[in-house]
Amino acid sequence: MPILVMKFGGTSVATLDRIARVAKRVAREVANGYDVIVIVSAMAGRTNELVGWVEETSPMFDAREYDAVVSSGENVTAGLMALRLQEMDVPARSWQGWQVPVRTTSAHSAARIEEIPTANIAAKFAEGMKVAVVAGFQGISPEGRITTLGRGGSDTTAVAFAAAFGAERCDIYTDVDGVYTTDPRISDKARKLDKIAFEEMLELASLGAKVLQTRSVELAMRYKVKLRVLSSFEEYDPNAGTLVCDEEEIVEQNAVAGVAYSRDEAKMTLISVADRPGIASAIFTPLAEAGVNVDMIVQNISEEGRTDMTFSCPVGQVGRAEKALGAARDRGEINFHDLVADDAVSKVSIVGIGMRSQAGIAAKMFAVLAREGINIKVITTSEIKISVLIDRKYMELAVQALHDAFELEKA
Ligand code: ADP
Ligand code: ASP
Ligand code: MG
Repeated sequence: MPILVMKFGGTSVATLDRIARVAKRVAREVANGYDVIVIVSAMAGRTNELVGWVEETSPMFDAREYDAVVSSGENVTAGLMALRLQEMDVPARSWQGWQVPVRTTSAHSAARIEEIPTANIAAKFAEGMKVAVVAGFQGISPEGRITTLGRGGSDTTAVAFAAAFGAERCDIYTDVDGVYTTDPRISDKARKLDKIAFEEMLELASLGAKVLQTRSVELAMRYKVKLRVLSSFEEYDPNAGTLVCDEEEIVEQNAVAGVAYSRDEAKMTLISVADRPGIASAIFTPLAEAGVNVDMIVQNISEEGRTDMTFSCPVGQVGRAEKALGAARDRGEINFHDLVADDAVSKVSIVGIGMRSQAGIAAKMFAVLAREGINIKVITTSEIKISVLIDRKYMELAVQALHDAFELEKA
């Protein structure tokens, strides 16, 4: 039997009624002749609640126990989905990550999937089971502890299963009907794309578009998984949604494919550090060891042998960054006048493979922001994206102005 992977995100399994609704979709695919692997997220809001409980109990928590707690939301929905399918006379059972087993690294709260042995589930399919409902987002470390894959990780579970089982397709069901030119919650002019190239989706995801976890796109690209994003709320339509595919398959080609944003960024500046060989290493090594995800980096022109170094990181990591740099100063590894944190900035990015061959895109982006009176604090570019750091209060304005200026509402 051909295998189909269907993943349902938190809002799609938020209530028993919604679980019943999506179970009907699963039953339809079984009737269409598929053996189905269903990957479920926790009910909407549940993972946030669990994270909150962990932080309230233990601010400097043991990441292994964090994973034990926050992975539990998916266990509930996996069992409920299997029960609902059984009620509909569809042969189904649930699997927690460790039962498959989904083998991961031991990087707790951000583990990577290393291997998914298919034998256990394949044997059940051979016995006549029609649906394997798997708890997303979780796995087991070499030490035998429960791990989680980072927020949004059920997408990655789904793609990894599709690759391991050679599934015909991996359908990601969510609360929007596809991938848009920007977050439809920020701009009502956002346009749904029928297709998007892997490279573009990868950039959009890593720059903040949370519709797919970045790692899931990487895996789909590497293992050539046919990946589709669609809504669990709309009527069944075999051509619905957005297909994430190779760029050769895409006819329409705007220079800019989409606008992404990351709301909760912080900008940190080390004032007056000695400008000498090894200084960047002395600053960024302790940050990396403290688990700070440094993103953009700028070093100013130096004067009299001293310079300012600026970097950005997620707002939630400012405290950790301050501690790590303070400790490095106490150890005499670096020396700076002051450390200034601006925790009210956001990152806005434009992405498109068409940028490779078209000049002037950056200039146009900066002109649009200037016209809106938005000051740019940091800029970074790559072959297919340009990102700027700006005051958070202008984030939505910047996204909308860029969406307008690059005419993304038009195909
Ligand atoms: P799920 O719980 O199903 O995994 P997520 O909340 O993780 O859903 O992802 C879906 C959300 O991603 C949408 O509700 C939307 O607000 C957001 N989003 C951000 N950027 C985009 C985009 N370019 N296209 C579609 N959705 C986007
Ligand atoms: N429930 C997890 C989260 O909220 C994983 C997921 O939904 O993909 O991050
Ligand atoms: Mg998600």
